[in-house]
Amino acid sequence: MTNVAQNLHEKFVFYGKNAKEWMRKCVLLLPEINRLRIWEKKGFGSIHEYAAKLAGMSRNSVDEALRILRKVEDKPELRWVIDKKGINAIKPIVTIATQETADFWAEKAMEMSKNTLEVYVKEFKKAHVEEKNNKSEFLPRKEFYAVPQVQNISMELDPEIAKQLEKLKGQGNWNELMQKLLEAYKSQNEAKKPIPQENAKRYTSAKIKKYVLTKTNNTCAFPNCTKKYKYLHHADRFALTHEHNPDTLIPLCKAHERLAHAGLIENENMAPENWRIKTTADKASEKWQKVDKWVVKYYSGNFVGTEEVVEIT
Ligand SMILES: [Zn+2]
Repeated sequence: MTNVAQNLHEKFVFYGKNAKEWMRKCVLLLPEINRLRIWEKKGFGSIHEYAAKLAGMSRNSVDEALRILRKVEDKPELRWVIDKKGINAIKPIVTIATQETADFWAEKAMEMSKNTLEVYVKEFKKAHVEEKNNKSEFLPRKEFYAVPQVQNISMELDPEIAKQLEKLKGQGNWNELMQKLLEAYKSQNEAKKPIPQENAKRYTSAKIKKYVLTKTNNTCAFPNCTKKYKYLHHADRFALTHEHNPDTLIPLCKAHERLAHAGLIENENMAPENWRIKTTADKASEKWQKVDKWVVKYYSGNFVGTEEVVEIT
């Protein structure tokens, strides 16, 4: 790139960054401006007209900001995240965060992209329901919630393949046949299992890659995820072992790879069927105290209070 082009680009990035920061500050002022009906006192027909004319905000973004900010009124940690990363960053967690867990979720929202956070929240909710079912004495035991004995799935098959499968099933049942096919698929791949690559460079050998990907047919290995894999994850951390081991190399989609690297997967040393998401939001941790520090800084620095709002002209 020429110097001129680079210069233009840098200017754009700088102004863009500042524009976003100022917009986040506007957003945080909205609830108080709305509550005190400052827009009316200044001769505007509505909060929407006020925000559109003074800050170029769309009707939707005003409504959404007011809705979300109402939910985080009592959670300064999440307001702090809005100030730093914008309102989108906390959207996935507004319904799950409580006053007690707001610091935990603020930290996650700061560390993760919105997509990763969404996946984490989904897994977190699932894991929490399971935990509750297992622990509570007042609820019926887990058997009552057990998965059904059989499950129907419908498949679109080529008539020729359907005919061959019907033939293989014969007078038996589908479950037995599918089990046989699965075992055949597995053992065919197992027979070609390569030995671990020790003292390895970053790149995995084609043999190991093929073996690992065939195991899940290129699908992410996290339980119940059916996304295509994006990364080969070293469950034992390549940096520590310098080894590509076909047993601990796990194909993962982007979101599940991020969660693994954020240290949020339980049983990572076992086969992925045993993996669970960590749900430690209820426990205190020293790490979260850094969030408390952010919040103190937030309150002393740019706390949005009534007095400041009134000063707006
Ligand atoms: Zn996945």
